[in-house]
This record gives sequence, structure tokens and C-alpha cells, in this order.
Amino acid sequence: MQRRFPASDMSARAETDVQKVDVLIIGAGPAGLACALGLLRAGVGVKIIDQKLERIRAGQADALLPRTIEVFESYGLKDPAFKGGALIYQQAEYHYDPEIDGVKFTRTFEPMATTDARYKVFIAKSQAMFEDILVDALREGGVLVDRPYKPLSIGFSTDERELNDPTAYPVTVKLVRADGGEGEVTVKAKYLVGADGAHSWTRKALGIEMEGQTTPRIWGAIDFHPSPESNFPDWRITTIVHTPFVNSFSIPREGDQVRLYTELGLEEHYIDRMTGRVDTTKFGPEKLLEYEHERRSFAQELIAFDKWYAESFSPDASRTIQKELNIDMNAPFAALRAFSGMLSGCEIRYAPSDIVAPEAYMPTALVPGKRMPPCALVRTADHAPVDVQDLCPSDGRFKLLVFAGNFVNDADTTRLECLAERLDTTLKRVAEGDIVSVACVLKTVGERKRCGDVPRVLRSHWTSVLEDTVCSPETEKAYDKFAIGEQGALVLVRPDGYVAAVAPLDEVQLVEEALLKVLVVPGQSV
Ligand SMILES: Cc1cc2nc3c(=O)[nH]c(=O)nc-3n(C[C@H](O)[C@H](O)[C@H](O)COP(=O)(O)OP(=O)(O)OC[C@H]3O[C@@H](n4cnc5c(N)ncnc54)[C@H](O)[C@@H]3O)c2cc1C
Repeated sequence: MQRRFPASDMSARAETDVQKVDVLIIGAGPAGLACALGLLRAGVGVKIIDQKLERIRAGQADALLPRTIEVFESYGLKDPAFKGGALIYQQAEYHYDPEIDGVKFTRTFEPMATTDARYKVFIAKSQAMFEDILVDALREGGVLVDRPYKPLSIGFSTDERELNDPTAYPVTVKLVRADGGEGEVTVKAKYLVGADGAHSWTRKALGIEMEGQTTPRIWGAIDFHPSPESNFPDWRITTIVHTPFVNSFSIPREGDQVRLYTELGLEEHYIDRMTGRVDTTKFGPEKLLEYEHERRSFAQELIAFDKWYAESFSPDASRTIQKELNIDMNAPFAALRAFSGMLSGCEIRYAPSDIVAPEAYMPTALVPGKRMPPCALVRTADHAPVDVQDLCPSDGRFKLLVFAGNFVNDADTTRLECLAERLDTTLKRVAEGDIVSVACVLKTVGERKRCGDVPRVLRSHWTSVLEDTVCSPETEKAYDKFAIGEQGALVLVRPDGYVAAVAPLDEVQLVEEALLKVLVVPGQSV
């Protein structure tokens, strides 16, 4: 954020034989690539390395869930995310029937139907294809993954002054070619991100303990094209087949493929014991990323659910757990539905912090700490339907959504002008450059009022004025959906699309206070 990056290097630059960069990322898997893109779009200089000569080609994770699709969309990457993927709207269950000594269809359901996700669907395709999207977006921004490089050593400055100076480069990492080739590089960075996977070299180098859970159960996975003669009717939706002997789970994939998982048995029967899969590398200062405070507890919840969910697919494990805990473990799909808010990523709520207001300063349905929910509105200038989430792209900026109430008569014009003046003064005082982008959502627009009549501060671009008029089946009523009355509201949205604060329209100082917690006041040293 701005406090830490007053003068961004847009890319690594050589200075004698040392490269200097804002952030060095070790590992170009999904985590490292997503981190690099987020930083790049926020104007932070980034260098990303990976020890593999080439990225993965197949296998591994296979689906994007609803909130992640929204995040891809916020980077303008929705279309590539959908392209070529299998779309999963429905799941089906089958059970073993001893009478026919075979499996019988039990039921279907739509796991994400009850969430308020913008896209109530999973996109299934290989992790390699999702990584490609991120790699391409990085390349467009001038950032290439440096391959095959790995770190040899990490050093940190011990000078307190340097550690607290956001313009300094207190981290020194020596890199060598992972293929044994010539070429040692020294990188000096402001921050280091270890995104080098479950067996992270960075984590071990920093002496951070592996925390996580493992399961002794081993599953086999195979990608295949079902035969056209197959009599199994549900290859194009997700299915689970329960039997007393072994369970299997299938997911449709890109190119008409299907991935089939089958439980093989206990780990000890198949392979040596290994360390767990869950990496808990730590990030930089809390102020910067709030990872420990926000994402970590959610990640732990997800890991716990994942373990429970995975175990419940195994008839053997399910029986043991049921006996031990006296709970019903027969319905993993039912659990999926019950937890759909958490699993889709749409119901996550971060606790109050410097970037989440301690309370809602007025009663609305928008909750500080939750993501800005989707809602289709009409764009005043061209009457096109536009989703409010599209006003919140991942560009590293805060968004101030001004729900300005009605814009019908002269009194409304005067009211909006007064508001615009106050906002202008506040934003000039607290926010340097265009770190806060303002958009205006009007409740009702009078027939004689035009987009150009909206005061300039509320109309930074012709696309930033929207209204609540219902003109097509695609649009909703935002004021009703968000429970904002005619009196309007100020909604401050964080760069990652989460609501930071909701305040009454005439209490601009509450937005100012929220911004002052994280932004550098112009003219003030950092
Ligand atoms: C066989 C398999 C099947 C899976 N199936 C699923 C699934 O169905 N669903 C699901 O959600 N998840 C699945 N996963 C897990 C999923 O792939 C991981 O959660 C995800 O890849 C983690 O992303 P990451 O970026 O943290 O780490 P990784 O994807 O592991 O990426 C780490 C990167 O860092 C690089 N690296 C490592 N060490 C160094 C070093 N010292 N120097 C430089 N670079 C380094 C690696 O080359 C790699 O590119 C599966 C994983 C595997 C292995």
C-alpha cells in the first residue's frame, strides 16, 4: 500500500551487479503468480522466480470457485478464466444398492445456488491453464517469471533504521540457476514473499514451523475421456458414488475430459510418510497485508473443512469418525451445501482492523469486512447494465462509492454540490494522486438531469455514474438490496474488493479517518 511504497520501482532494475526490487517472490505457482499480479496492478515493482525450467503442464488443482471468479473478473480476466473450462452447476450422488449389486442414482443439487455469488458455478480446468492466464497478464505488464532460479541464501539488515525505512531494501537474497548453469544474481528487496509451495525453502530458511494437517488416506486421480458408449449418465456434472467398499468422485474437465478420484487406501500401505501439504508461510508486516489477522483464520477453517470433507468421502474413515465422534458423516455433499457461503468465498468476513471499520456507522446490508456484493445497475451515460463490482477492479486503489440518493430537482443538485466540495477537500488532504477512485450511485435520476450535471468530483469518468433505475431484467435495485435509503451512504471499498467502512453521506470525516489509518498524508514523510 501507499504507506510502504512511496516511490515504486515498476520492475527490477540492475544497479551494478545487484538488482533492486520492491518485492521478490520465490515460487511461480498459483499463490506467487496471483501475488505478483496483485502487486503489479497496484504499481509495486516485482520480481518473481521459479526453480522449474517450465511451468506445470497438467494435473493438480482443477476448479475456480465463485469468489475467485469474481477476483479474476476484477483483474479483467473473467473471459480467459471461463475459456475452455467445464462449467459445473450441479452435483449428483449415487449409492450402492445391494439388491442390484450396483449403484443407483440418489439425487442432484446445485451447491452454490443459495450464495449471492455473481457466478454460481465452478470453472473446472487444469491448474496449468489458470497459471497461464496469470503468466500472460504479468507478461502484458512487463513482468516475466525468471526461470530456472532458486535462492541460495537470505539475509536481513539488522539496522533498525533501515528496517523501518520504506524506501530501503533490507532483504538480500542470492539466487543461483537451478539447472546448475552459470549466473549468480544478488537481489535487494523491500519485501520477500515465499510462495514456494508445501515444502517451502523460504519457510525452512526462516525457521518457520510447518503447521497443518495431513491425512493418511491416499487417493488416485486420473483424467480421461469417457467412452461415448458409457452408460454412466452424469459425466458432465460432479458426482460422488458411495459404496461400502470404496467411494469415487468425478469432476468434468476441459476438452470433454473427466477427472476421476478413487480412494486407494491408507498411506502406510502405499508410500512412505511425508510432510503435510499445507504451507503456512508468513507474510510481511501486519499493516501491509493483514494476513495473520484476516486470511489465516479463514485458511485454517478451510483446511479443517477440507480434511473433514475428504475423510467423509471414504467409507472407512467415515465409519471410524462416526464411531469416535458420534456424528453423521454420511453426507459430504450436504455439508458442501451447508458450507457453500464459506467455500464459495462469498461469505468470508474479516474482523475489524486498520482496514476494516470497527462497526457499521449506519444500518445497511453492507457489512465492513465482507466483500462488496454484486449488483447490476444502469450506467447513466449510456444506460448500459453494469455491475457494481466492476467499479471495484483490482488496481490497488480504494474505491469510494457514493450512494448519493436522488438526483431529481434543484435542491438535489445543491446537496450534491455541497457533498462534492467536502469530498474534494477531504480527498486532497488525505489521499495522494488517484489512490482513491470515486463513483456515484444515484437512486432516482430526474428526466431533465443528465450525467454531465453530476458534480465533477463524483464523476471522474463518464463510466463512474450509475443509477438504480430498473430498465432491464438484468438490473437490480441496489438501494433496496443494500438497504440504503434515500438519505444515501458513503461506502469505502478496499483495493481487494472488501468493504472497509459504511458511513452516512454527511459524515465524510468517518471516511477520512478510515483512509488516514492506511494512507500517507500528502507532504508527510513515510
Ligand atoms: C498431484 C496434486 C493434485 C492436486 N489436486 C488438487 C485439487 O484437486 N484441488 C485443489 O484445490 N488442489 C489440489 N492440489 C493442490 C494445489 O495444486 C496447491 O494447493 C497449489 O498448487 C498451491 O499453490 P502454491 O502456489 O502455494 O504452490 P505450488 O503450486 O506448489 O507452487 C510453488 C512453486 O514454487 C516453486 N518452487 C519451489 N521451491 C522453490 C525454490 N526453492 N526456488 C524457486 N522456486 C521454487 C515450484 O517450482 C512451484 O512452481 C493438488 C496438488 C498436487 C501436487
